Amino acid sequence: MYEKFKKLISYYKPYKNVLILDLLLLVLSDFIVIFIPVICNYITNQVFQFEKTKAIKITVILSILVILLSVSVYFCKRYIEYQGSMFAFKMSSDIEIEIFEHLQKQNFSFFDEQKTGKLVSYITNDAYNLANVIKRAPEVALSFTIRFLAAFVFFFIKNVFFAFILLLVFICVFIFILYFSPKVQKITANSREIFSDLIAYLEENLSGIKTVQSFTNENIEIERFRSNNDIYIKERNKICSLSSIFRGGIFSFAVSLIPIVTIAGAFFMINGNINAGDFIVYLLYIDILLGPIFSFVDLNEFLQEGIVGFNRINNILSSKSETVDSPNSIVLKSVRGKIEFKNIYFKYGESDKNVFKNLNFSVEPGECIALVGSSGSGKTTICNLIPRFYDLINGEILIDGINIKDVKLKNLRQNIGFVQQDTFLFSGTIKENICYGKPEASEGEIIKAAKDAYAHDFIIGLQEGYNTHIGHKGLKLSGGQKQRLAIARVFLKNPPILIFDEATSNLDNESERYIQKSMEKLTKNRTTIVIAHRLTTIINANKIFVILDGKIVEKGTHKELLKKNGTYAKFYNFF
Ligand code: ADP
Repeated sequence: MYEKFKKLISYYKPYKNVLILDLLLLVLSDFIVIFIPVICNYITNQVFQFEKTKAIKITVILSILVILLSVSVYFCKRYIEYQGSMFAFKMSSDIEIEIFEHLQKQNFSFFDEQKTGKLVSYITNDAYNLANVIKRAPEVALSFTIRFLAAFVFFFIKNVFFAFILLLVFICVFIFILYFSPKVQKITANSREIFSDLIAYLEENLSGIKTVQSFTNENIEIERFRSNNDIYIKERNKICSLSSIFRGGIFSFAVSLIPIVTIAGAFFMINGNINAGDFIVYLLYIDILLGPIFSFVDLNEFLQEGIVGFNRINNILSSKSETVDSPNSIVLKSVRGKIEFKNIYFKYGESDKNVFKNLNFSVEPGECIALVGSSGSGKTTICNLIPRFYDLINGEILIDGINIKDVKLKNLRQNIGFVQQDTFLFSGTIKENICYGKPEASEGEIIKAAKDAYAHDFIIGLQEGYNTHIGHKGLKLSGGQKQRLAIARVFLKNPPILIFDEATSNLDNESERYIQKSMEKLTKNRTTIVIAHRLTTIINANKIFVILDGKIVEKGTHKELLKKNGTYAKFYNFF
C-alpha cells in the first residue's frame, strides 16, 4: 500500500511547481467566490442606512470591486483550466512512456501471455484515466473543503440551525459515497476488463483480416464483435444504473438544501431572527456549495476509473523481465561464431511439457546448419534461445566459449542477424526499414546492402525509390520483396551469426531464386542456423540436424544422411 502511494506521489514530482500554483490559484479563486456574497450582504444590509448619494457611491465602488474580483477569478480559472489540463496530459504521457519503456524490455514469455490489444488499452485509456484523477483529486478535495468550511463557519456565526442542517446533509452525502464507491469500483473494474478484451479482439481481427476474408468469415466475426459489444454494454448498463441512483441520491440531498433553507429562512424572517439580506446570502452560499458537491460526485466516478487503471498499470509495471544483464556481464569482441548447446532443458512459461531435455550440439565458426524436422519438434525454439528471447531452465548456451547469460543482452543481439518467415516492416520509408539495425548507415552502405540482397532493382523501380513509404506492416510489398528487404537489413547489420527461418510458402520462383542467391552471399563466413524448407539449402548445408520431439535424432551431411536411409531419407523422399 505504502509502495503504491509512493508510486502515485512520484507522478506529481515533475509538475510540483505547476501543481502548487494551480492549487494556490484555486484557493484564491474560491476565497474570492466566498467573499463576493459577503459584499452582497453588506450592500443589502448596510448600504441603505447611509444617505442616498453616499449609498450610491458605496454601491458603485463595491460593484466595481465585485467586477474586478470576478475578472481575477477568470484569470485564476484560466490558469487552472489551461496549465492544469496540460499537466494532466503531460502526466498521462509520462505514464504512457513509462509503460511503453517497460514493455520494450519484456521478453517473449511476457508477450506470449498478454494480448496486444489489452496492452494498448492500458497505455491509452488507463494512463489517461489515472492522470486525470491524479490531477483532479487534490483540486476537487481542496475546493470542496474550503467552500464547505466557509459555508459552515458563515452559517455557524449567523445561525447555528443552518450550520447543523449543512453538516447533516454533508454527512448523508459522505455516507452515500462510502456505501456506493466499492460497488462502483467493482463494476468499473469488470467493465474496463471487458473493454480491454474488446480492443484486443479488434486488434486481432484487423491483424488477421486476410484470414477472415479468405475463409469468408466476415459475418461470423461481425456477430462475434456484436456479441462482445453486447457484453460490454450490459456491464456499462450496470454502471449507468448504479450511477443514476448514486448521482440522483446526491443530487436530491444537495438540492434539498435549497427548500430547507428557503422554508426555514422564511420562518426565521417571520419571527424577525434574520432579515431579507441575510436570507439572500444564505441562498448564495448554498449555491456556492452545490458546485463542489457535484464535482465531488464526478470525482468519485473518475476516482473509481483511476483506481482500476492504477491497479492494472501497477500489475504491468511490477512484472519483471526475466531476461536481464547479469551484474558482471561482458561485451563480446570479434565474434568467431562457435555456438554450443550444453545440457539444455527448456519449457515455455507454465507449460508442464519440456521442449528440450538435455539437448546437446555444437556449430563451428562459419558453418551452415540446417534444422529439419516435423512441425512442433523445436526448431524455432532453438533459434529463439540463442538471442535469449527466452531463458533456459537448465544448461548453457556458449558463443565462442562464453555463456550467453554473461554477455550484455544488447551486445549479444547485435551479433545475431535474424531473418524470419513473417518479415515485419515498420511503416516508414524503404530506406528507414533497411537501416533499422544501423540507423547511422550512409546512403552508399544502404544501397550496397540492397544490391547484395537483390532488392536494389525493385526498389529503384518504385515511384520514390528508397524514399517510398511502405504501408503499415509493409502491405504494399510482395512476400518476396519484404524478405529481400529483411535480408538487406541483415547485410547492413553485418552480424557474425545468422539465424534464418526460411519461408517458401508465399514466394514465386523468381523471388525464391533471388533469396537463395542473396542467402548464399550472406551466409559466407558467418555461422548460420537455418530452419530449412528448401532442398537447395538442405543439400548445401555443412551439417543437417534432424529434430524430432526436441531431440536431435540424426546429424550429418545430406549425402551421409541419405546413405543412412533413416528419418532424414524419409523426409527427403517426402519432399
Ligand atoms: P517448430 O519450429 O519445430 O515447428 P517450435 O519450436 O515452434 O517447433 O515448438 C516446439 C514446441 O513448443 C511445440 O510443442 C510448441 O507447441 C511449443 N511452443 C512453441 N512456442 C510456444 C510458446 N510461445 N508458448 C508455449 N509453447 C510453445
